[in-house]
Amino acid sequence: MIRLHDKYFKPFLNEKEIQQAVKGIADKIAADYKDQTPIFVGVLNGSFMFVSDFLKAYQHPCEVSFVKLGSYQGLTSTGIVETLLDLPDNIEGRSVIILEDIIDTGRTLKELVHLFANTNVKEFKIASLFYKSEVYNGEYAIDYFGLDIPDRFIVGYGLDYNELGRNLKEVYQLNQKYMINLVLFGKPGAGKGTQAQFLKEKYNLKHISTGDVFRYNIKNNTELGTLAKSYIDKGDLVPDEVTIKMLEDEVNKNPEADGFIFDGFPRTVAQAEALDNFLESKDMKINATVALDANDEVLIARLLERGKVSGRSDDQDVDKIRNRFDEYNQKTAPLQDYYQEQHKFHSVNGIGTITEITERLTKVVDGL
Ligand code: 5GP
Repeated sequence: MIRLHDKYFKPFLNEKEIQQAVKGIADKIAADYKDQTPIFVGVLNGSFMFVSDFLKAYQHPCEVSFVKLGSYQGLTSTGIVETLLDLPDNIEGRSVIILEDIIDTGRTLKELVHLFANTNVKEFKIASLFYKSEVYNGEYAIDYFGLDIPDRFIVGYGLDYNELGRNLKEVYQLNQKYMINLVLFGKPGAGKGTQAQFLKEKYNLKHISTGDVFRYNIKNNTELGTLAKSYIDKGDLVPDEVTIKMLEDEVNKNPEADGFIFDGFPRTVAQAEALDNFLESKDMKINATVALDANDEVLIARLLERGKVSGRSDDQDVDKIRNRFDEYNQKTAPLQDYYQEQHKFHSVNGIGTITEITERLTKVVDGL
């Protein structure tokens, strides 16, 4: 395990595996180009080590050059790409083969293709040592790649995390085990929203409220939103796979978060299992579930108060409130057992001032 800045990384590929991948690409390109003199164009900074080893493995006539784009900030593409080091000028009529360290979403590649679009090259090919086919947008064919890797953030062998790690001889992957992933339970009025806000800021977590995620996807007519709406419109429940997919998108959108707070999901044991499976596939897990506990009568008083201010009709009727509590009790009880078996269930007294409750939550999280 190594540490770069604030994050931990664990071994992913050793030197031998990397060299095999490099040789694999060199052999394939040699089969196609050994009788020409192609120009290899490395994309800086990430590809310098790859280009160096690649050229040692490619012992045929060739030229080499570099371009430099500026785009990657931290753990996520910003989408802003500019040229910092321009094209070589002898490329007209030549076969150009781009050497990339890694292709992720494909945004950088798009810029590269634009960069070369106005040149009269004979041929333009793309070779990447690492290729995340799961997340690649598929816009351009990837002509050669060394290894298809899962959607994990990697460092080493030229690849950095905020400029550290480029000199590592092996490749490491972000260790998600140091994340804090929480599920927040609480009856209406228990103060989940307020406390989630606090946890989010204190621990750099991303708050994923299923209700908000649904509304966002439906409002923006995303593919998943449209799918979810088709069930809702028929009066059916949205299948768990669809909800999980939406959560997956949220998790993928926030690689810089130190963890997630799941709010409003899971509501059933089947959903809890689906969530566990999904997190496991990302090398993540739920660390704790926290229920904000409060006496019904106290909550009813709080909700009626809230109802007066917000005008929410379901907060103004005591019978409706009790119904929501009953529903909560029925649904969460089995979940409590599920998480208790995994020793992850924590209950926090939700009566007191906001600061008092916050302190109780901090104790639980710090004790993880
Ligand atoms: P894309 O534009 O395809 O999303 O990302 C390509 C660029 O993002 C790469 O050239 C690299 O700079 C950066 N990148 C993408 N994935 C990773 C990763 O897992 N680790 C590191 N260190 N950089 C990455």
